[in-house]
Amino acid sequence: MGVDSAAELHLRELIFSQLAELVSEYGVVTRKQLDALQVGGETRRIIDRSKGIWNPRDLLATLSVVSSPDGGYSDAHVGESLFAYDYQRDTTAGDNVKMRRALELRLPIILLRKIKDGVYVPIFPAYVIADDAANHRFMIALDASLQSVADPLHLEPIERVYAERVMKQRLHQPEFRGRVMYAYEQRCTVCTLKHGKLLDAAHIIGDAEVHGVPSVDNGLSLCKIHHAAYDANLLGISPDYVVRINGELMEETDGPMLLHGLQEMDGRGLTLPKRRADRPSKDRLAERFEMFKNVS
Ligand SMILES: [Zn+2]
Repeated sequence: MGVDSAAELHLRELIFSQLAELVSEYGVVTRKQLDALQVGGETRRIIDRSKGIWNPRDLLATLSVVSSPDGGYSDAHVGESLFAYDYQRDTTAGDNVKMRRALELRLPIILLRKIKDGVYVPIFPAYVIADDAANHRFMIALDASLQSVADPLHLEPIERVYAERVMKQRLHQPEFRGRVMYAYEQRCTVCTLKHGKLLDAAHIIGDAEVHGVPSVDNGLSLCKIHHAAYDANLLGISPDYVVRINGELMEETDGPMLLHGLQEMDGRGLTLPKRRADRPSKDRLAERFEMFKNVS
């Protein structure tokens, strides 16, 4: 790696740490934040004004690509293991040249998953690992070790299994958290705590189950204590959106966390997303509530 690309790698890492800070607080980043990110004392644009591929003039390679999960033609396609990103304007030249540079220089890029107009979940570091010229697309991986697979267009079975696991952890989980936190306006649905770093996106039906899909209506925005209590069936949520606390726990005497944090939540209604489609599925809540009642 030359001096220039080493310096550029350092800059990219600074950008990643700024984005990580925003994501831990909000789960998502806005276009406004991406238009002018504060990085090492300067303001940097992280997203193109209109195109999918952002190639800053002063950088050697592409910095970010936008992908809309429900977008149109020239968009990314998520495979189970790798991401395919179509050439811009179907030519090998133009904006695609710097995508190829990212591949050659092994410089990490940012994948911006658009979840709403002007709202994104940034996935980083992402790596361009192949130029699939025959199909006019680039292959993108979400783990540095996948840069060294022998044939990115035909993964070996063991590589595929690994890449699928990476895709789940690095793409699907952050995207789920981002969508849920955004829908609930970064608040715990039980206690309304509004501190992003203390919030999780909990599954109603766990993602180990077949129907434990990562959609917002299978999610709840919960603070750390209420997430753990929900997972342990010490806190239940009825299908009509009312919080219930385990009977034995209601009888205990302890400090302020038990009293205010748990016992006083019994009978309280959830604070729900404004959009109806984002609210938790009553069927899923009912299924899960049975488990709580069986323990309680
Ligand atoms: Zn809470």
